[in-house]
Formats: sequence, structure tokens, C-alpha cells
Amino acid sequence: MTVGIVGAGQLGRMLALAGYPLGLDFLFLDRDASVPAAALAPVLVGEFTDRALLRKLARRCDVLSFDWENISVAALRSATRGLRTRIAPPLRALATGQDRLAEKRLFERLGVRTTRHAPVSSLAELKRACLKIGTPGMLKTRRMGYDGKGQRVFRNMEAGGFAGTCEAMGNVPLILESLVPFEREISVIAARGLDGALAAYDPAENVHRNGILHTSTLPAGIKSETAATAQAAAAKILAALDYVGVIGVEFFVLADGSLLANEMAPRVHNSGHWTEAAATVSQFEQHIRAVAGLPLGSPARHSDCVMENLIGDDIDRVPALLAEPDLMLHLYGKAEARPGRKMGHFTRISRRS
Ligand code: AMP
Repeated sequence: MTVGIVGAGQLGRMLALAGYPLGLDFLFLDRDASVPAAALAPVLVGEFTDRALLRKLARRCDVLSFDWENISVAALRSATRGLRTRIAPPLRALATGQDRLAEKRLFERLGVRTTRHAPVSSLAELKRACLKIGTPGMLKTRRMGYDGKGQRVFRNMEAGGFAGTCEAMGNVPLILESLVPFEREISVIAARGLDGALAAYDPAENVHRNGILHTSTLPAGIKSETAATAQAAAAKILAALDYVGVIGVEFFVLADGSLLANEMAPRVHNSGHWTEAAATVSQFEQHIRAVAGLPLGSPARHSDCVMENLIGDDIDRVPALLAEPDLMLHLYGKAEARPGRKMGHFTRISRRS
């Protein structure tokens, strides 16, 4: 069986690394030939919107997946029309995961508490949003936001008024969210198989620096009921979307232990990288099992751990890190270390508490 993956970054590379031992083959599509997954599998090089190339990928694969959600749903839909190639996770989940407003509406429909929010695409809407949400709030682009990009605390208009504010955000549809005084941030990585089976990993406690994930710690410093609520919310989302594959759902934890869902990623997630070192079956293997129609594996965690990202010059720490005995290092094979670029990660493991 061949799995086609749109996007050949580090996530795609780790999916292939986990899938080869299961006897599967991989084929990627990405804009650049020198991507992390290229060391492992062939890459069709072209734009993510190139329907002919997407169709070529789809024809050569039994199932299509993706390692990055900001790809064209319309192009994928039309490129696979009439073909028997399955797409997993489903396009509906991809479309929802691309739009912060659609995500929040799904959370609300399912009774999953989320941040108060309002859409902003006109001055009138912004005024309404400020009245509803209050300021300061968090102003975000509805689409294409990742690693803290496309968001800022909104106190009042930038110089230039509404037009200036919109221009500074790229003249795209926005969403205003309440600024959440969270105590901590957690995420749940969960999977749903082709047969509807569910598997949820323990929630990770995440710390961000400059909008980029810095560490994920297991166990998270939360009560077991809070963990169960987060896992149940992820399960509801998976079932509602008739999902197949791994999803990452991020939550804010408030002082009283209650949760607000922040966002979801319809793919393997950086805050789940710890699973390769401290769980029976990693999130990468789990995703591949799900999309290939294989039984899900156990998400059980056998160790406590802290995963830390290596960003930019952090790569210089590698010799010292390798000298530590209980540490698993994973580099992504990127030639050049640029500021803010994810170069790899490591996971320190310790006996389970
Ligand atoms: P996001 O891209 O939505 O995951 O946001 C990146 C990070 O910004 C989050 O992990 C939080 O640390 C912070 N953040 C995002 N939205 C809010 C919010 N509404 N209130 C407070 N902090 C936020």
C-alpha cells in the first residue's frame, strides 16, 4: 500500500519513518525538492494547488493524507474526483481546521467550551466584536495562522484606523477572541481508526516562547478529571467529523480547572512528538495505522517525559544533549538553521510517576 502525503516537512518525514516498519510505501508532494521527507521517499515537486500534480499523486497512492493543513481543499477535491483514492483525515476536517471561526463553531455545536469570539471583516463588525468581547482582545487571522503568526493583542486601532489595522493583518478575514487569563495550556493528541475505534494520549502541558511551542511535559499538572474532559472533547470532535487519523486539540486551562478549546490541527502535532519516546505507539505510527485502515495501537504512556523543540541555533546544543543518557534526539535534516526554524526536538524521559 502506498500512502501519499501532501506536504513533506518534518511531520511528513516522521510519518514515513513510522510507516516503513509497517510495510507501507510513501510518496510526497511539496513545493521544494529539498524538504525533510525527501531523504526517505520520492517527492512530486509543484504547488499545493496544482491539480494535475495532485491527481498524479492520487493515482499513484491508495490513500492521501497531509502534513500541513493550509492546502487547498477545492484542489484536493477536484483532483481526486472519480478516483478510488481515499482522503484521510476527511476534507471536512481539513476545511474546519483551516478556519478559526469554523473550528469554534464546531466546538460550540458539540458543547465543547471555547474562547468567546466574534468575526471581524468590517468596521461595523469590529465595533460589535469589541462590545461583545471587550478589549484588550486577541485579534487573529481566521486562516493561515501558525506558530503565533497572524495574531496580536488588540487594544485599539493601529494608526490608520480600521483600514490600517486590517492592512497590518494582511487584509484578510479576522476573528477577535477574548484574552484568556489561562493558568496553563494543554493539548490532547487523539486518533480515530477507519473502523471508528478511538485512542487518546495523555494530555501534554505546553509552554510557548514567541508563539512557538517550546516544551511539552507529561504528565500535565492537571487533575485527572480535567484530563478526562479534554480527552472526551477530542473524542467528540473526531466522531462528529467522521474522522480518520490523528488530531491535535489545544486547550487553555483556567484557574478553576475548567477548559476552553483554543484550536485543532487535523494532523499529527508538535505537542505529540513526545509519543515517539514515551508511548507504546507514537502519534506518527497511529496516524499511519488509521489512514491505512489498520487497527489502532495503544496510546499508553510508559514514562514521564519533557519534549523540547530545537529552534534555529539551538541545534548547537546537540553534542551536549547526546551526552545525556535518557534522552531521545530527533533532527529533521534541514541544512540551514534560521531563526524561528524548527530544526529538531528531543525528549528526556524518566520513570513514570
Ligand atoms: P494559537 O495560534 O491560537 O495556538 O495561539 C498561539 C498561542 O498564543 C497560544 O498557545 C497562547 O499561548 C496564545 N493565545 C492564543 N489565543 C489566545 C487567547 N485568546 N488568549 C490568550 N492567549 C492566547
